[in-house]
Amino acid sequence: MTDRLKGGCRCGAVGYEIALSGDLPVYCCHCLDCQKWSGSAFAEQGVIREDAIKTQGPVITSPVTSRQGGQTIQYVCGICHSRIYSTNPARPGIALLRAGTLDETDKLRPQAHVWVKSKQPWVTLPGDVPAFEEAPPSEEIRALLRPAS
Ligand SMILES: [Zn+2]
Ligand SMILES: [Zn+2]
Repeated sequence: MTDRLKGGCRCGAVGYEIALSGDLPVYCCHCLDCQKWSGSAFAEQGVIREDAIKTQGPVITSPVTSRQGGQTIQYVCGICHSRIYSTNPARPGIALLRAGTLDETDKLRPQAHVWVKSKQPWVTLPGDVPAFEEAPPSEEIRALLRPAS
């Protein structure tokens, strides 16, 4: 069965729909870049197939170079500048959704926490969810966070 998840930006000019079957795989990144970028304690990311998301409204794209030299493309509302999702040429076909932009976020259950060595000390992680000091080995994170198809 295919579900349709809906979401959008803060101002409402950009909306989107994601077609997927099964639950959205979500992880939280506690790295300092994500703290800076989100202006919060961690980022909550959903892993989707790039072709599963359809947006409408004034989406602009913005290339951003990471500290490691890789490049990501950020998909952003052109009016309120909410980041909606990003892609990375190193992971073709996969997109990372800012999960907090979904209309319904209360059912999301993160399946992994990464970069917990820089997490804020007041953030308490559930004991039954895998947590990684830094970035996990890519096979391990791929197995945990296979995008729903
Ligand atoms: Zn907006
Ligand atoms: Zn991060």
